[in-house]
Amino acid sequence: MKKINLTELIKNSIIKKNGISLSEYMKMCMTHPKYGYYTKKYPIGFKGDFITSPEISQMFGELIGLWIVKVWMDHDKPSKFSLVELGPGNGTLMADILRATRNIPEFHKSLKITLVEISPALQKLQKKVLRNYQINWKTKLNKLPNIPTTIIANEFFDAFPIEQYIFKKSKWLEIIVSLKNLKNKNSNEFCFGLKKIAKPPEELSSLNNEENQIYEVSPEIKKNIIYLSKHLKKNRGACLIIDYGKNNNLGSTLQSIKNHKYSNPLENQGESDLTSLVNFRAIKDYAENYNLVVTDLVDQGDFLNTLGIQERFVALSKNMEKEKIALHLSSLKRLIDKNQMGKLFKVIGIRNRNSLPLVGLEHK
Ligand code: SAH
Repeated sequence: MKKINLTELIKNSIIKKNGISLSEYMKMCMTHPKYGYYTKKYPIGFKGDFITSPEISQMFGELIGLWIVKVWMDHDKPSKFSLVELGPGNGTLMADILRATRNIPEFHKSLKITLVEISPALQKLQKKVLRNYQINWKTKLNKLPNIPTTIIANEFFDAFPIEQYIFKKSKWLEIIVSLKNLKNKNSNEFCFGLKKIAKPPEELSSLNNEENQIYEVSPEIKKNIIYLSKHLKKNRGACLIIDYGKNNNLGSTLQSIKNHKYSNPLENQGESDLTSLVNFRAIKDYAENYNLVVTDLVDQGDFLNTLGIQERFVALSKNMEKEKIALHLSSLKRLIDKNQMGKLFKVIGIRNRNSLPLVGLEHK
């Protein structure tokens, strides 16, 4: 008997349904409960497939810690304050946030911390890294405590499944994942296909459509943004989203990364990281529907500079051994330089209309 693996499971599903949506494909690849990429791998870090800002330097988490304290202060230092991180990866960002703010005991005492993490392997790692803190884990963003809240998400939404649609000969078609030879059970060659649909998602119907243009939509991101918007509207607070992305839904932005290199998204299922560019415009639209304030996009470099990364760099350098300074400097550059992560990564803030403007995002 043939060994069942993720590729076989996806193939069976494609044969049964005559092709599956891109979002279904991505979901199986990334978060399948047994074989998904995040379920079984430790993807983040020098040994993994990609490196994120908190893994580059502790300065990233320290400054975000200060940003959160400012939100807490701007909400009159509530005695109960919910801090939520979406997709905490190795737990480094939360560890740095908590270490950098431990001199503000009143803040620490107020914290009700929730981590939203789908991967059992990463949850385990986070539990180890954050063993000294009281934390509540969840696999989905739901049922947060009804108190003032700050939600942070670094490189979270780019990991979400997307759907793609194309407008051809005045009709909408969905781009699906299929097999080159659907009738041949031994066929192992995946391909993209097109499927007729009755009606496009509501985000697309009112557009001035262009022939042969691909449009992307993520129902899962929508669901999460609607949940957090309702929550912030009811409880006050703010949300900070940092990711690579853009302000529209145009073109295919699907990409696959394995061992720090681009690879074919239709190969190595469950072994390579599938992501897409986050459509910040859609996030803004979903949140504004709930009468929240959504800031413009700010480059990560500008955001970190406003929060004082240069000063923090100097302060940390003072006690550093000489050999470590070069790495410290290259980490700073990697986070803020325009040709590194400083411009590619964008920051957006969402807040309750009754809350004060968000530091680094609203005051110029
Ligand atoms: N924020 C971290 C990790 C980014 S990688 C950092 O900056 O280093 C994406 C993270 O989101 C991982 O922890 C992954 O397991 C988690 N994740 C991906 N899809 C998810 C989903 N649908 N629900 C909850 N967590 C998810």
